[in-house]
Amino acid sequence: MKAKGMNLSLVFTLRKRFALGGTCIFLVLILLVTTWTIPFLFESPSILYKFGIHKTYLRSGKIFGLTAAVLVFFQVLLASRIKLLDRIFSLNRIYFFHRVNGIAIAILVLLHPILILAAENFAIFPFEVRYWPEFLGVGLMVIMAVLVATANWRLLFGFAYDKWLRLHRLGVVPAIALILIHILFVSETFKSGLPRVFVCVITGVNLLLILRLWYYRFFPGKTGKSSFVISAVERVGRDAYAVDVKPHDGQLFSYIPGQFAFITPISANVPKEEHPFTIASTPSRHDALQFIIRTHGDWTGKIHRLQVGDSVFIDGPYGLFSHVVSLGNDPIIMIAGGIGITPMLSMLRYMANMDDQRKILLIWSNKTKEYIVFPEEFRNLKYLLKNFKIINIITRGHEDGDEQGRLDQAKLERLLKGFSRTSKVFICGPFEMMKEVSRVVKKIGFSSTRVYKEAFKL
Ligand SMILES: Cc1cc2nc3c(=O)[nH]c(=O)nc-3n(C[C@H](O)[C@H](O)[C@H](O)COP(=O)(O)OP(=O)(O)OC[C@H]3O[C@@H](n4cnc5c(N)ncnc54)[C@H](O)[C@@H]3O)c2cc1C
Repeated sequence: MKAKGMNLSLVFTLRKRFALGGTCIFLVLILLVTTWTIPFLFESPSILYKFGIHKTYLRSGKIFGLTAAVLVFFQVLLASRIKLLDRIFSLNRIYFFHRVNGIAIAILVLLHPILILAAENFAIFPFEVRYWPEFLGVGLMVIMAVLVATANWRLLFGFAYDKWLRLHRLGVVPAIALILIHILFVSETFKSGLPRVFVCVITGVNLLLILRLWYYRFFPGKTGKSSFVISAVERVGRDAYAVDVKPHDGQLFSYIPGQFAFITPISANVPKEEHPFTIASTPSRHDALQFIIRTHGDWTGKIHRLQVGDSVFIDGPYGLFSHVVSLGNDPIIMIAGGIGITPMLSMLRYMANMDDQRKILLIWSNKTKEYIVFPEEFRNLKYLLKNFKIINIITRGHEDGDEQGRLDQAKLERLLKGFSRTSKVFICGPFEMMKEVSRVVKKIGFSSTRVYKEAFKL
């Protein structure tokens, strides 16, 4: 008998995603173009009395500075985990946009004073009180440089992820306040009228978004985060633990197989930090969620200390790494490295529950057999899913019955021989492995529009 499935209204069709994504990009462009018109439509005296190339330098400098300010607004929006945006683009992609946008801001912030100074033939402003907005701008530049540099080269500065995140979130508030003061006082254009309203509205919305983020962080029980209680913690493989959680109020949120969520435990034994994990259970299971967590660093190293009865706040679901995102019954190839199996397991569990008998191949690479989580369940899945095949790859040592060594081109070509090139290919594992595998599968004929990757890194 088929199990009850999930709420498919959670999934936008590709057409709807394109339409909504296109609308978002259009709105972004409108906001940017509006910003670019300001130095033309509302010329400050400093632009008015400049001519030729100096006028162009000054105007471009102002456009670059204003664009950077608007991009900072988008940074906050992109970091706000807005569910609608996740359903259109996926949160992983949104965080990628956030990183790229950060780099664009850094470049614009650097070019902004260079162009302004070029308009003055590089004459440095005298150190006088009336130039305080300009010097404030220099301070702002330093804050932006620190934010971007520590975000991109965190390890070089010796920051652990959680410390860096706190610094990053803390730095944003003074940055936004200084941007507002700098813009309002540095140029006559923003002393009154529409440009002033424009800047104040954008900053106001930005600050509201930040207040929303703080509210979510400090009052998780009162916000959209769901409250759960741990019902089981079990060792399921080398350095891996399955953590089952049940909703406090019995109401489980809807999700699709392969999605992830941010979990924050309230426990005497594990720090109250928020970390993302795939929901490894299937949406057709309606009483609990399961996360499978590999001890990997500081925080995950303490995961075995969680106790049955501890509370957990969960923010989710997020992501679009799922076979249900696009329709059709095409064969599926899953290529997982180590704990990258969790989204695949969620999809397989769902397909078994829904009696989905399409052709599936799982290629799963682990260091040794000890690292294989739930070996019994995978054996069982082969009985439930008639066209399901597993190829275990062991990268360290030699064990009978399985493939050995790394997943290189020759091996993938051999293992995927005869598999339809229109199959959907799902890849999840360590970054370098994903990069190489995705390059190879595309090279050997799989369409890049059907290759889906999930990085365990936001
Ligand atoms: C979408 C997604 C799904 C994931 N699913 C699983 C899963 O099913 N099972 C599993 O074992 N692991 C999963 N991870 C990885 C897991 O989130 C990290 O291993 C864990 O957060 C590491 O924390 P740590 O302090 O122990 O390690 P650290 O050594 O401190 O961090 C290792 C790396 O993990 C990332 N990280 C650390 N803390 C955070 C945080 N608070 N928020 C976001 N990223 C952080 C950083 O990239 C960091 O460089 C997933 C990650 C993502 C992004």
